[in-house]
Amino acid sequence: MGLIVQKYGGSSVADAASVKRVARRIVDTKNEGHDVVVIVSAMGDTTDELINLAEQVSPSPAARELDMLLTAGERISMAVLAMAIHDLGVEARSYTGSQAGLITDSAHGRARIIDVTPGRIQSALADGAIPIVAGFQGVAQDTKDITTLGRGGSDTTAVALAAALGADVCEIYTDVDGVFSADPRIAPKARQVPRITYQEMMELAANGAKILHLRCVEYARRFDLPIHVRSSFSAKNGTFVVSDSSVSEGEAMEQPIIAGVAHDLGDAKVTVIGVPDKPGEAAAIFRALADAEVNIDMIVQNISTAATGRTDVTFTCPMSDGQKATAALEAVRQQIGFESLTNDDGIAKISLVGAGMRSNPGVSATFFEALAQAGVNVEMISTSEIRISVVTRAESVATAVQAVHTAFGLDADGEAVVYGGTGR
Ligand code: ADP
Ligand code: ASP
Ligand code: MG
Repeated sequence: MGLIVQKYGGSSVADAASVKRVARRIVDTKNEGHDVVVIVSAMGDTTDELINLAEQVSPSPAARELDMLLTAGERISMAVLAMAIHDLGVEARSYTGSQAGLITDSAHGRARIIDVTPGRIQSALADGAIPIVAGFQGVAQDTKDITTLGRGGSDTTAVALAAALGADVCEIYTDVDGVFSADPRIAPKARQVPRITYQEMMELAANGAKILHLRCVEYARRFDLPIHVRSSFSAKNGTFVVSDSSVSEGEAMEQPIIAGVAHDLGDAKVTVIGVPDKPGEAAAIFRALADAEVNIDMIVQNISTAATGRTDVTFTCPMSDGQKATAALEAVRQQIGFESLTNDDGIAKISLVGAGMRSNPGVSATFFEALAQAGVNVEMISTSEIRISVVTRAESVATAVQAVHTAFGLDADGEAVVYGGTGR
């Protein structure tokens, strides 16, 4: 008997029949003798539909009101899931993030959890009830306004509550059998991995593998809480995300060099053309972007296509920050003296991740040869200790991921199963 936290993603509760199926699974866990706390996401594509609605009403909706609107999605699923559990003869009580004690800062749309006070969840457990908590939301400590944690944030709600409650494991139920060596929606030969370290999972999540919210993995690592990513559509064991040191020496020898390939279609590439080649210019560019709160990822500086004595500075940032970035730079154009700007949304970032890269020469060569043989043009390159990333055209994303996946011997014999969801 232990405490299990289970999180069900949107595709696992997409309609009434799915809600009932999930309710059955939760009650079965309880009947095995465990205490269960459930976190639930909005049904199906509800969050996207609510965003569309807001944009039809207002081109740039007020952040506070958008958060209030989006949290309604999780409220619907928590209530209907509690109803379905009641019908199986077990008491369940639904709680909003605020009621469950998820205290955040006041950064609407990307709030961070700063405290968890799960008193009501503990009381519900003491009464023998199953608490059902709305994911992805909290309440700001200072303003008392309702906040959201960023897209995919229900994973982080689940891990934060699991840590605060001292749960034995946090189970993340989704529409694939676990973490794969690439997104099975674009790489059908992707292979499910039985175990992955926090470090590699963080690198994959930070580079577009949306199977887990990045902050949920950071949180789990800090509290050394095991995450079990698995399908709500099958009874199979999924993937355990575990600490680097729990992969024993013997096992480590058999760990593949590469953990997986991630891709990200959510970035834009901005080029500042014809920047005078003198000290202080890059500083001025990135100061303007920082003041506008634009998140920068890759940066490259080149000899300019425009004129001699000048350089081009290219960087990537989230596509949603692209307009903000170009507006901020236009405002300092005279001061910096650059010639023009381009903003390109048609890019993809492909990243190869693996802790074994550190000690295995030749990984970069194999990576670039695979891309070359597949006819994929590389526009930018960046690396970290355990990752190589390139920017390519968005149309090349599937070709590039599959080529790299094959080149590193990651292909499985069969095809990966995707049980549901639209991949939005
Ligand atoms: P949920 O609604 O359950 O939170 P998400 O859509 O957020 O589900 O995440 C699951 C999806 O993540 C999968 O359907 C898959 O397309 C995608 N994905 C991306 N990278 C990976 C990967 N490396 N392993 C498994 N799934 C991945
Ligand atoms: N419903 C939210 C989203 O779609 C949160 C989540 O699913 O984790 O992003
Ligand atoms: Mg998700």
